[in-house]
Amino acid sequence: MNVPFLDLKAVNAGYVAEIKDSINRVLDSGWYVLGQEVEVFEEEFKLWCGVEHAVSVSSGLAALELIFRAWIELGALQEGDAIAVPSNTYIASVLAISGAGLVPVLIEPDSESLNISASGLAAYKGNAVKAVMVVHLYGRAAEMSELSAYCERVGLLMVEDAAQAHGAIVDDCRVGAWGDAAGFSFYPGKNMGAMGDGGMITCKDPELARMLKMLRNYGSEVKYKHELRGRNERLDELQAAILRVKLKYIDRDNAKRREIAHCYRKGLSNPLVLLPKEPVNGEAHVWHLFVVRVKQRKEFMDFLRDKEVGFMVHYPIPIHKQAAYSDDFAGLELPFTEAIHDEVVSLPLSPVMSEQQVARVIDVVNQFTGSADE
Ligand SMILES: *Cc1c(COP(=O)(O)O)cnc(C)c1O
Repeated sequence: MNVPFLDLKAVNAGYVAEIKDSINRVLDSGWYVLGQEVEVFEEEFKLWCGVEHAVSVSSGLAALELIFRAWIELGALQEGDAIAVPSNTYIASVLAISGAGLVPVLIEPDSESLNISASGLAAYKGNAVKAVMVVHLYGRAAEMSELSAYCERVGLLMVEDAAQAHGAIVDDCRVGAWGDAAGFSFYPGKNMGAMGDGGMITCKDPELARMLKMLRNYGSEVKYKHELRGRNERLDELQAAILRVKLKYIDRDNAKRREIAHCYRKGLSNPLVLLPKEPVNGEAHVWHLFVVRVKQRKEFMDFLRDKEVGFMVHYPIPIHKQAAYSDDFAGLELPFTEAIHDEVVSLPLSPVMSEQQVARVIDVVNQFTGSADE
């Protein structure tokens, strides 16, 4: 049996009728940018997330970058300010910081959660940072009460990168409602995926929300009157209409992901394959990815390929070793981050996997003996 890493067509197949209705509604409306669908989707997302404001944008990267740009416009940050970010995140987290004219400071993550932690921030002895970007990596929420207390005590702004963690709950509060602001991605492969690119910003401050709405739309609140040098980073009506369907089912889909993660954690028992840790409160993890660590990764990947079990590596090259940042981080050594990047493998996990597929993955992984000539 072949098990794909992620079958996006199957993911959307469950919603075909509702998605087609949504597409037709937009087609019939004759209105394609910044209309009813976007307005209603923002309202629905805001209520679901439990946050004061939601501003939709064109991608997760745009969401994160516009938050920083808005804070610069509002005087809360200045160009050149240092921003802490975990060193093992997806590059978009860091691109958002440097893209806004700020300086990313890479912080090694906690060894158990693989997320940035208050103790990791406290241990950093370099230039004072002005804000922290908390990334809920692989769908596991970071330790939010400790991080919030730390940011409050030291006087730091907190941004959440919730691109992988739609719907995760910590202490009865969803991710996206903890920080001063948060960015979500609706890239098709995310837990809540559009049929193209999309993103959402959530925040508490009405002034920040107003600024973000201007920045996403040419710096304009009133048509042809431009208060700032903005961008075009809007979510279109078609994606908003499709995402309104996805929002109805995200909690159910996340529950399915948790079930599969639970089966994996119960069934996988190969001493060569280190399993991801589960948070004490299961709701804090939405299992965007099920990431194991294997010292003999090359042999493991060859074995999976041979058995037709899909996999991916999130991520193969750490940011401080990427050509795009070779000047900024030359000579920087982050041993734990580098070890993670050498060992991680993501196994298939999606709400449309069958019991047989889950059982097959468990079977194959448990057969791995570590020898190259399997
Ligand atoms: C996907 C992702 C982003 C970027 O989202 P896009 O919509 O692809 O721009 C940012 N941060 C993390 C952690 C991500 O996984």
